[in-house]
Amino acid sequence: MKDADMTSATCLRLVLSDQLNPQHSWFTAVDDTVVYVLMEVRSETDYVLHHAQKVLGIFAAMRALSAQLQADGHRVHYVAIDDADNQHDIPANLERAAQRFGATQVQCQAPDEWRLDALLHAWRDQTTLQVSSVSTEHFLTERLDVQQQFTGKKSWLMETFYRAMRIKHAVLLQDGSTSKPQGGKWNFDASNRQTWHGPDTKHADPPEPADVRPTHNHAALWAIIQGAGVKTFGNAQASAFRWPVNRSEALAQLAHFVQYVLPNFGRYQDAMHTDTWRLFHALLSFALNVKMLSPLEVVRRAEQALADDVASIEAVEGFIRQILGWREYVRGVYWANMPGYDERNALDNHNNLPQWFWTGQTKMRCMQHAIGQSLEHAYAHHIQRLMVIGNFALLAGVSPQQVHQWYLGVYIDAFEWVELPNTLGMSQYADGGLLATKPYVSSAAYIDRMGNYCKGCHYNKAEKIGDKACPFNALYWDFFDRHQPRLGNNFRLGMVYKNLERMTPEQRAGIAEQAQRVKSNLDGL
Ligand code: FAD
Ligand code: SF4
Repeated sequence: MKDADMTSATCLRLVLSDQLNPQHSWFTAVDDTVVYVLMEVRSETDYVLHHAQKVLGIFAAMRALSAQLQADGHRVHYVAIDDADNQHDIPANLERAAQRFGATQVQCQAPDEWRLDALLHAWRDQTTLQVSSVSTEHFLTERLDVQQQFTGKKSWLMETFYRAMRIKHAVLLQDGSTSKPQGGKWNFDASNRQTWHGPDTKHADPPEPADVRPTHNHAALWAIIQGAGVKTFGNAQASAFRWPVNRSEALAQLAHFVQYVLPNFGRYQDAMHTDTWRLFHALLSFALNVKMLSPLEVVRRAEQALADDVASIEAVEGFIRQILGWREYVRGVYWANMPGYDERNALDNHNNLPQWFWTGQTKMRCMQHAIGQSLEHAYAHHIQRLMVIGNFALLAGVSPQQVHQWYLGVYIDAFEWVELPNTLGMSQYADGGLLATKPYVSSAAYIDRMGNYCKGCHYNKAEKIGDKACPFNALYWDFFDRHQPRLGNNFRLGMVYKNLERMTPEQRAGIAEQAQRVKSNLDGL
C-alpha cells in the first residue's frame, strides 16, 4: 500500500478498524505534522474466530478510508496484514511508527470495546509517548449515561431510556411540543407483528425489495488474508462481496432503504421465511458500527420519510426505536457492566454449542435456515437471532459464553459493545434479567406463527414427546419447570405458569424426560 513519506511528524493518530468515519473532525483540515495510522493485526483477527466476510469487509473498508484520506492530502501509515514489519499488536506497531516518524504524541479515538480500551490504557501507563484520547463523535450518549439513569434500579427498562432520548433529541415529537409523541403514542410495536407469506399468495404481501448493494471483487485481498494465515469460517463471497466499504456506498444504501424498504419495515419486522434471508430489514448495521454512517443522520432520514409521506408512523417509529433506543441503550448497559458482564451465567448453563452451529446441518428447519444464512451472508435479522437461534441455545442450556463467542464471530456487525448485551443479556438471560424483563423463549407455536419454517420440517411442531416431536416444545416447558424458583413470580410469565400447573405430574415428568433426551443428543438433532 502507498505509505506516508518518512518526513518527521509530531503526532500519530490511531484509527481503529471500527472507526472508519471520514467525517470525524480530525479530517477537516490537512496537517503535515500528523500521520494517521491504520493497521491490520492478528491480535484483532484472532481474538475470536470471525466470519470470513467480517474480516474481509473490515479490511476492505479500512483500505478504502486510507486511500480516501491520502487522496485528500492527509499523511497515512497503513500497516497491512502481510507487511514484514507488522508486529500484529496495536501498541507495538504504534511504537514502531513513532520511531519511524519521530513522533512524540499519539492520539486515539476512545475505543468502543472494553478489551481495546483496557489495552490502550495499560500501554499509556508504561510508554514514553504522550498518549491522549478524543471522542469518536459517533454516539448520541456518553458511555456512562445509561448507568447514571438506572443506578439502584433492579431492571433497566429500555423504554424509559428511549422516551428520554426522543425528548432530548426532539425526535418524532408533536409539532410545537417538547414532550408529546407524534401519533399520540411512544411505541407502535403492537402494529408491527405481521407474517410475510410471499407475494404470490392470497395474502398479496409485497415482494422483497431488490438488493441494490454494489458487488465488489475482493478476491485479491482475500488471497492476502488467507496467505497471512488468518483463520475464519463461513462463506467469504470474495469475488461478489456485497457489504458497503465506504461512506458513499453506505449513503446510497440508506437512501434506497428509506425510499423502498422502510415503508414495510415495521409490519414485517418479526417475520421469517425460507424464501428470503433479509425481508424488509435495513442491512445498515455494518455501516453504522464501523461508523461510516452516524446514528443521528439515519434517524433524521427516517423522520423525513414520515414527513414526506413515504412511510407510516408505525414503520418509522419502529425503526427509530432500534437506533435511538436499543442501540444506544445496549452500549450503555455494556459500559455500565464491564468488565465481568461477559462472565455472567445466571441460569448456570454449561452445555456445549452443537456442532451444526458451524455447518447449518441440522434437521430442525428453522435452525438450518437461520444458521445457514448466517454462514452464507454473515447476517440474520433480529428475530432470527433472538427467537430462533438464541431461543434454542437458551432452552438447550448452552453455555452463554460459548453462545457469545459464536455471535461475536459470525455476524458482519458484531462488535462486543453491541453484541454482548444483546446475546448474553437479551437473548440468554445470563445477566439474570437486568436487560430483559423475561427470558425470550418460545415453543414451536411462535416460530410457526411468524414464518413458514415448520412446514416441511423433519420435526412435528404440534408434538411434545417422541422422536418426531419438535425439540423446542419439551425444552420450552422443561425450561420453565426447572426455573420456577427464579421465574415463577415474574408477572410477565403468569400465563405460562398457569398452563404448567394444569399439566399432570406424569405429563411434566414426560416432558422432563424428553427434554433430557434432546439435551443429551444436541449434535444429533
Ligand atoms: P434492522 O433490523 O433493519 O434495524 C436497524 C438498525 O437498528 C440496525 O442496523 C441496528 O443498528 C439497530 N438495531 C436494531 N436492533 C438492535 C439491537 N437490539 N441492539 C442494537 N442495535 C439494534 N446488532 C449489532 O449491530 N451487532 C451485533 O453483534 C448484534 N448481535 C445481536 C445478537 C443477538 C442475540 C440479538 C438478538 C441481536 C443482535 N443485534 C446486533 C441486534 C440486531 O439483531 C441487529 O442490529 C440487526 O439485525 C442488524 O441488521 P439490520 O441493519 O438489517 O437491522
Ligand atoms: Fe423449528 Fe420445530 Fe418448527 Fe421444525 S417444527 S421448524 S424445529 S420450530
